[in-house]
Amino acid sequence: MSNRKPLLIFAASILLTACSVNQVSQEGNSKALGANSKTDLIWPKINSEVKQDEAIELRINHLLKDMTLEQKVAQMIQPEIRDITVEDMRKYGFGSYLNGGGAYPNNNKHSTPSDWIRLAEEMYQASVDDSLDGSKIPTMWGTDAVHGHNNVIGATLFPHNIGLGAANNPALIEKIARATAVEVMATGIDWVFAPTVATVRDDRWGRTYEGYSEDPEIVKAYSTAIVHGLQGRYHEDFLGDDKVISTVKHFVGDGGTSKGVDQGDNRASEEELFKVHAQGYVGGLTAGAQTVMASFNSWKGDKIHGNRYLLTDVLKQRMGFDGFVVGDWNGHGQIKNCGNESCPQAINAGLDVFMAPTSSWKPLFYNTVEQVKNNIIPMSRIDDAVRRILRVKIRAGLFEKPSPKNRALSGKVELIGAESHREIARQAVRESLVLLKNKNDLLPLLPKQRVLVAGDGADNIGKQSGGWTITWQGTGNSNQEFPGGSSILDGISKQVKAAGGSVEFSESGSYKQKPDVAIVIFGEEPYAEGHGDLDNLEYQRGNKKDLALLKKLKAAGIPVVSLFISGRPLWVNPELNQSDAFVAVWLPGSEGSAVADVIFKDSKGKVQHDFKGKLSFSWPKQPEQTDVNRFDKDYQPLLPYGFGLKYGDNEYLADNLTEEVAFQEEIERQVVLFERSTKAPFVSFISDSNSVSEINTNTLNNEAVSFRTKDRFVQEDAIELQFSGKDAGKYGFRDSFPNDLRGYFEADASVYLDLKVDSKPSGSIRVAMECESECNNGIDISSQLEAIPLNKWTKIAVPLKCFDMEAKDAAKVTVPLVIESQSALKLQLFDARITTSTIDASIIGC
Ligand code: BGC
Ligand code: BGC
Repeated sequence: MSNRKPLLIFAASILLTACSVNQVSQEGNSKALGANSKTDLIWPKINSEVKQDEAIELRINHLLKDMTLEQKVAQMIQPEIRDITVEDMRKYGFGSYLNGGGAYPNNNKHSTPSDWIRLAEEMYQASVDDSLDGSKIPTMWGTDAVHGHNNVIGATLFPHNIGLGAANNPALIEKIARATAVEVMATGIDWVFAPTVATVRDDRWGRTYEGYSEDPEIVKAYSTAIVHGLQGRYHEDFLGDDKVISTVKHFVGDGGTSKGVDQGDNRASEEELFKVHAQGYVGGLTAGAQTVMASFNSWKGDKIHGNRYLLTDVLKQRMGFDGFVVGDWNGHGQIKNCGNESCPQAINAGLDVFMAPTSSWKPLFYNTVEQVKNNIIPMSRIDDAVRRILRVKIRAGLFEKPSPKNRALSGKVELIGAESHREIARQAVRESLVLLKNKNDLLPLLPKQRVLVAGDGADNIGKQSGGWTITWQGTGNSNQEFPGGSSILDGISKQVKAAGGSVEFSESGSYKQKPDVAIVIFGEEPYAEGHGDLDNLEYQRGNKKDLALLKKLKAAGIPVVSLFISGRPLWVNPELNQSDAFVAVWLPGSEGSAVADVIFKDSKGKVQHDFKGKLSFSWPKQPEQTDVNRFDKDYQPLLPYGFGLKYGDNEYLADNLTEEVAFQEEIERQVVLFERSTKAPFVSFISDSNSVSEINTNTLNNEAVSFRTKDRFVQEDAIELQFSGKDAGKYGFRDSFPNDLRGYFEADASVYLDLKVDSKPSGSIRVAMECESECNNGIDISSQLEAIPLNKWTKIAVPLKCFDMEAKDAAKVTVPLVIESQSALKLQLFDARITTSTIDASIIGC
């Protein structure tokens, strides 16, 4: 099954088209649009500790009075550092800007804190320079400091939220947030896009680890604590020199999309949307969070970025949120009838700031200005948005604070990765570990013995830190890129050696001398957002190499401790059976050494720290138990919410957990690529040897292929491809996130095409799939195409087994279908899909 459900989403978006421009009314009359007593019953008024201040409102009036339309719109546009220059800032005076995951000053991963400050300073000075745009309003910089200041090398990286949820300690969370704010401030940045307050209901979601829990209880308590830690408390230290503006995100329902599809559709009732998915907003807004990020997901088929009811009627009017709503990464472009470069619907719905990375910011700016002039966007809506932005800036003291390089903490490099921050992170690591199994009280270990450390997670700070770590996906980071940090192995070695024991480290588990105990550290590779979406929760499906390692050690009679690195609970019954002790370590971050503080006794044989962590996510009994959650009616997880052993507790798991996988036979599983048009989330493209072009018109050519739409039954329900034979050409379907197609391979699915060959092929024609590791696996179908009648619509099916793909690649398919030809050929295509159902087609063997 794909990690998307294109059919469903598509159907839903037809039924519920996003609000159209005509529906817009002014803020004042929105009662008529749906705010009613039902709204009031479901959603509470929030009593934010941050109060409106008359003097600030008057000051805003003065500022607004003198602003031009262009200056106002510029406040509402947030470009990204890879796509604007300081001169653009001078010319336009953007209200804010961001660096996305893995974006650094000068595009240099190794930028130093002074490089970050320099860019902040230059952007700030350009924003207050009124020589070109006539505006002196200071800009502000937003960044994803989601587990510490994670884009900056050397920063303290705290455990990801899933681990913090297991710690269930709001006071600790507040300390973490305070330390994060300090490290962010030391680089001259004003604003962070955290906390994520998703309540995660389906663990297939690639952002599960960004959530604290599957249950709103912890989410609500934590959101208050983290907002206090980041922003400070009103009347105390609110947005002072060592505090940053925070963002509760992603409003709303991001953790509840069906099948856990990232950016998918949440189908909850309004009551459930509030009770389950919005509790983080209750906590965060009460604590005075100044910004809210709109979510990529839809609610009942309607993209939140264009949902006036939720953004305006509920969030702003009913809940009383008076800060501003920022969009997510070109999220507005996903609204029906919008694009990245134009989307009046979003502003009219209540979005105040467009997050406009890539080159979209410029056309978006001019289009928005035009739309206001043409009354497509009412001026009152612009004034409201800018009022909110200015309110936050004034509250944050941006008009009074010195420029970034002159601020109190700026340039205090010693604060980045400070020892006191690392100590907080170590505490968090210790408290987040959850002990799932401890047969014969194997743990805690005596340090004075012969210890074998194995597994590819043992000495790998990048792996233990997960996504959103220096790079967006968290991949490609070496241990040297975490100065001051430590791997899990580091902590073990230190303690064992100090106590007079010995450590042998071998990833593959080989040893020179038989050890007394083996500690195997393994788990998920880093991922972020939709790249981490799964089809089901089976660990290492199709490639159980860690299990083989555990078995090898077990067979040699060595007691085995498994330390499992993961961004979510996974089905690991076989691995649990092979382990004497098993610890969920989640994604501990840069302070891996703290794991040893819990699993080892001190040199005198005393427990240093007992386990404190309890599951804030239910642990599955079957790979398809993806959305088993606390308080479910028929609740039968392997390990329940709240589970977590302490030293000396009775055993809970036996060694004979079922290893059989019961996959439900689905009646029909399919990934639809083309059915009258290319189906979202896929985009179609053509390429020749020099270029790849996305298709968004009805004709497109390059050296190798000409594409045009054709009419079969109705207008433009088919496409025609003409390969010139002059160059190697491709026509295919691509998704920006990889798709997990392993289930299709296991179910012997086929690629199904309804096509018409208009000219006999004169050479090889391939159908293939491409994957994240740049694989391209396929099969030549030219002889089969030759055999089918010319000019006649024909259905063909190519079994997936012909593609000869490894499971690891099938798990990460980026292009589920590409048609390739180097020789001349003309054909038409009416339908393309991958399906498990039997179809009436001339089957192509391989
Ligand atoms: C994510 C946000 C993030 C933003 C900026 C988006 O894709 O959904 O959580 O804040 O990118 O990097
Ligand atoms: C960018 C990241 C960004 C992410 C948001 C990626 O394409 O490279 O910087 O955070 O999109 O989805």
